[in-house]
Amino acid sequence: MLGATGSIGSQTLDIIAAHPERYRATVLTAGTRVDRLVELARRFRPRLAVIARDELYGELRRGLEGSGVECAAGSEAFAACVEAPEIDMVLTATVGYSGLEPTIRAIRAGRDIALANKETLVVAGELITGLLASSSSRVFPVDSEHSAIAQCLRGEDPATVRRLIITASGGPFRTWTAERMLTARAADALNHPNWSMGAKITVDSATMMNKAFEIIEARYLFGIDAGRIKALVHPQSIVHSMVEFTDGAIKAQLGVPDMHVPIAYALGENSRLADAAPALTLEQMSSLTFEQPDPERFPCLTLAHTALERGGNVACTINGANEVAVDAFLHDRIAFPDIYNIICRTLDSVPFVASPGYDDLVATNAEARRIASELISH
Ligand code: NDP
Ligand code: MG
Repeated sequence: MLGATGSIGSQTLDIIAAHPERYRATVLTAGTRVDRLVELARRFRPRLAVIARDELYGELRRGLEGSGVECAAGSEAFAACVEAPEIDMVLTATVGYSGLEPTIRAIRAGRDIALANKETLVVAGELITGLLASSSSRVFPVDSEHSAIAQCLRGEDPATVRRLIITASGGPFRTWTAERMLTARAADALNHPNWSMGAKITVDSATMMNKAFEIIEARYLFGIDAGRIKALVHPQSIVHSMVEFTDGAIKAQLGVPDMHVPIAYALGENSRLADAAPALTLEQMSSLTFEQPDPERFPCLTLAHTALERGGNVACTINGANEVAVDAFLHDRIAFPDIYNIICRTLDSVPFVASPGYDDLVATNAEARRIASELISH
């Protein structure tokens, strides 16, 4: 479990705790929250606990003294832990670019992936697709929209798929004017109407960058070109996504907004786990509504098509700049609309690479971060 201390990590551990006969966490990792990692490792008894920050090794070791859990720290240990032979499946629930290297190593080692970390497919969609083609590793989507699409596609002929319709809650600013969005602060953006998630993805939902990333993620997970993937705002977050077929039929997956369902479906290799979440009582809902997203107020959404049309390292640049800009917004260093502005200005400055290999992506990410940081500090 990459990112055991996070929102997806904790919900996955709920499932593991409820089903010890099925699942065991053999490796737990965290970025910085060493106390929480110690607590989880003492409770779930993995073979190994890894903290990505080198300097936290001593604290981890002391915390786990006498527990029998092995300890490791640092970026190499974090990326290498996915290769352990006893692992059947790697849950990628770390945030942002940090998921890239361990995901690549997990695929090379033939481990199945429960993919929450969508940024990996944003940064390196072509590279990951290529690696998967020559590996025994399979990818099971954790993202609720992609899990919904995978469920709708079950038993269908891929040639009959007309388009994918990815639903979006619209986030906390769905009804805000552009003027009001100028005044949005981190606390407003973190106040998501339907989902409780980590801070970075919650801000991405507020800008709708999350939906842009999900379009890119769908492009690579399902091999469908971007022109046939549409985002549709659905404020109730009950319809998790849909597939439209060539005969005009549309299949949707519905449920309460609860990540335990897609997580359990991925852990079960696309099979259902009883009582993963409370049942949906449609009769208690007054309405399910749908509306077109507004690219004027949510310009980040348009970056999905920018990234997929231009290709190369463009999505990697967008992702790197977005990570830096979101962090700056969370620390009150830039205004909400500046997230998009910083990304566009970074895109103008990072050299284009048409067919990036891993090293090009590493360089692009570093350059995008450097430029975005510079733009923010000026
Ligand atoms: P959180 O912020 O709640 O958790 C992130 C986890 O990753 C934490 O365990 C954190 O460790 C760890 N982490 C962060 N940075 C690093 C790093 N540089 N190196 C190693 N570990 C790191 O995020 P979420 O659980 O919300 O999201 C995780 C991923 O899942 C994201 O890619 C997100 O887009 C995706 N996702 C999340 C959904 C949700 O409902 N939350 C829904 C769909 C997708 P620590 O806290 O100890 O520093
Ligand atoms: Mg999602």
